[in-house]
Amino acid sequence: MTTEVPERLIIGPKEGVTYPLTVAYCGNCSMPLEYCEYYPDYEKCKQWLEKNLPDEFERMKMGTAGSVAGGSTATGSTANPASESADADEGKKPQKRGGKGIMKTKKAKDDVPKKVCLSRSARGKRKSVTVVTGLATFDIDLKLAAKFFGTKFACGSSVTGDDEIVIQGDVKDELFDIIPEKWPEIDEDFIDDLGDQKR
Ligand SMILES: [Zn+2]
Repeated sequence: MTTEVPERLIIGPKEGVTYPLTVAYCGNCSMPLEYCEYYPDYEKCKQWLEKNLPDEFERMKMGTAGSVAGGSTATGSTANPASESADADEGKKPQKRGGKGIMKTKKAKDDVPKKVCLSRSARGKRKSVTVVTGLATFDIDLKLAAKFFGTKFACGSSVTGDDEIVIQGDVKDELFDIIPEKWPEIDEDFIDDLGDQKR
């Protein structure tokens, strides 16, 4: 059984390593250093390593170049770099445990309950506008929706916020019919009437 196995794949105590192991964590991906190469942003990890843990960086470079230790010929006068540098660097190691781990995908709109809210607010003495929020929770393109309302009511209608459309005029009641008609996924039950709101 002398097939060449990369050192990182060997499970169990390794020759010339002092136990317990001191695990160095990467400041970029916050994983133990040996996981860095699986991190999507490995290049940044390497940059961080080079800057903060140059010894480890050298070791990793050697590791990718070939086998580090284990070879009977390689161990000469140079003491095992693994155990030595690990001890020496202990003081300045910025260890972060339980970090962010493998990149999490953004959890976008799943947390927000799907609901469309309609409200009316005064604009001047006699005029009022209708505010529609929550269309984005149904993944509706707000720009298109605003345009649709504008055409439908022949009035001004524009996207005014992250998930807000303001329609010039009081069209709240009509919207209860028009929205489910236009977007069948929005049942009338999903539409809330917030009444008159001060803006
Ligand atoms: Zn890393």
